Amino acid sequence: MKRYYFDHSATTRVDAAVTEAMMKAMRENYGNPSSIHGFGREARVALEDARERIARILNCDPAELFFTSGGTEADNLALMGVMEANRDKGDHLIVSKIEHHAVLETARFLEQHGFRVSYVSPDSYGIIQPDEVMRAIIPGTVLISIMHANNEVGTINPIGKIGQIAREQGILFHTDAVQSFGKLPTDVKDLNVDMLSLSGHKIYGPKGVGAIYIRKGVKLSRRTQGGHQEREMRTGTENLPGAIGLSVAAQICQSKMAAESEHLTRLRDRFWEGLKSRLPDIHLNGHPTERLPGLVNISFEGLEGEALMLTLDMKGLAVSTGSACSSGQTSASHVLLAMGIPPQIAQGSIRFSLGRENDDESVDYALEVVPQVVENFRAMAF
Ligand code: PLP
Repeated sequence: MKRYYFDHSATTRVDAAVTEAMMKAMRENYGNPSSIHGFGREARVALEDARERIARILNCDPAELFFTSGGTEADNLALMGVMEANRDKGDHLIVSKIEHHAVLETARFLEQHGFRVSYVSPDSYGIIQPDEVMRAIIPGTVLISIMHANNEVGTINPIGKIGQIAREQGILFHTDAVQSFGKLPTDVKDLNVDMLSLSGHKIYGPKGVGAIYIRKGVKLSRRTQGGHQEREMRTGTENLPGAIGLSVAAQICQSKMAAESEHLTRLRDRFWEGLKSRLPDIHLNGHPTERLPGLVNISFEGLEGEALMLTLDMKGLAVSTGSACSSGQTSASHVLLAMGIPPQIAQGSIRFSLGRENDDESVDYALEVVPQVVENFRAMAF
C-alpha cells in the first residue's frame, strides 16, 4: 500500500543534501571542537561555519547563537535561565495558553518554584493579540514568551508588535519559532525579540539539534554545568554533525522559502476547499490566511480525532490529532479549547501538515479517502 505523509509539523524527512553534509562531517570531521590540535581546529571551523550560516538567516551576530539539543531545550533555557538570573528585577512571566508543552510545562515548573505566571488567551482564530499581552503586564514582569506560529493550528502571531510592547516596557521577549523557522522570515531585528528558539527536525534537518538566539546583553543563567562549550551557555561536547545538518537544512529552506510557501499554500487551500465541498459539518481551525503554508487543522463534527487518525493511518494517510507530542492523550487539545472551541468539537480534530512529501497526487488521495472514512464513521453513529 502506498503511504502518504501529512504530518510535517511533527517532523520531516532529512533532506538528501543535509544527510550528505552530516555523513561527511562524521567521516572526516571527527575532531573535538575543543581540542587544539589540527583535527580539533578543523572541527571548530566547521562548527563556526554552521553557526554563521544560521546567524545570517536570523540577522544576528554568530556570538548570539547557541546550539542546543532541540527546541525543547532552547525553550527551557530561555524561560528558566532568564527568570532565575533576573530575580532581582521581578518574579513574573507571561506566556500564552497556546504554547507548546516545552514552554507551558516550563512555565508550570517555574510556578511550582515560586514564580508568578500569567497565561494569555488567544482570540477565536488562535492569534495572541498584543493588547492582551499588554494587559497582562504587571510590576515585576521580567519576561514574555509568545510563540511565532502555533504547531497545532498554524496561526501566526504578531511577534513584531508584541516585541515592541515588551521593549517599550523594558521587559525581555522570547519567541518559540520552532514551527516558523525555515517557513517564514525570522529576522530577529524585525521581530523585536531578545531570544528565539528553533529546531532542526521540523525543517528537513536532523532530530536532537536546535539553537537559541540570545541577544547580547540579556542576562541568563545556564542550565548545565560542565566545560566551556557554547561560551559556557550550553556545556557538553558539541553535536557537530547535527549543527552542520541544521545549518544546511536552514540554508535550503531559506533559498526555497518563497517557492515552497506558494506551492504549499496552494495545496493546503485546494485540500480544504475540496474537503469542504465533499463533507458537511466540518470546520477549519485557525486563521484563514494568517497561517503557516501547508497547515490545515479541521474539526469533524461527531467524530473522535484519535479513531479517525488511526483509521486514516490504516488507509495509508499519516496525520495527527492536535500535536504529535500530545497524541496518546484522549483529552481535547489545549490550543483548540483556549480558542473557545467546544470540547466535543475539539475532540474531533485532525491536523494535516503538508510539506515536501506532498504533491497534487497525495492531495487527490486524501480528498478521496478522508470523506469516505468520515462518512463511514458518521453512518455508524446513526
Ligand atoms: N516548540 C514547538 C512549537 C514545537 O512544535 C516543538 C515540537 O513539536 C517544540 C517546541 C519542541 O522541539 P524539539 O522537538 O526540537 O524539542
